[in-house]
Amino acid sequence: MEVPPTCFSSEYDFCSDCGSVLPPPGVQDTVTCPRCSNRTQVTVFLGKYVQTSVVFNNLDTLALPNETDETGALKGPLIDRRCSRCGFEKMVYHTRQMRSADEGQTVFYTCTQCRFQEKEDS
Ligand SMILES: [Zn+2]
Ligand SMILES: [Zn+2]
Repeated sequence: MEVPPTCFSSEYDFCSDCGSVLPPPGVQDTVTCPRCSNRTQVTVFLGKYVQTSVVFNNLDTLALPNETDETGALKGPLIDRRCSRCGFEKMVYHTRQMRSADEGQTVFYTCTQCRFQEKEDS
């Protein structure tokens, strides 16, 4: 049964049945009306301050790989190389070791203008 919060005061609660002023609540969260013995749920805000302590863990910074993937941002040394798509003559390159050592390195070139990328096995 819901008690409408009409008679709420910061000092007293009122009996929802007869309107009598209820005694101040004790340790229980219900008080009994002295007139009609109706039990009322105490709606006093106790002002409990719940402190949540946030522990900041020393999260290991994710070690991101230094090289970019094939669609990644421009990164790496700038060289004079002509883009085969737009003809711009500055490209960056990075190398990537292939799965096994005998396959050698693959060099990726990325055009700094159109971001066209081409690779070359060395
Ligand atoms: Zn009452
Ligand atoms: Zn280009």
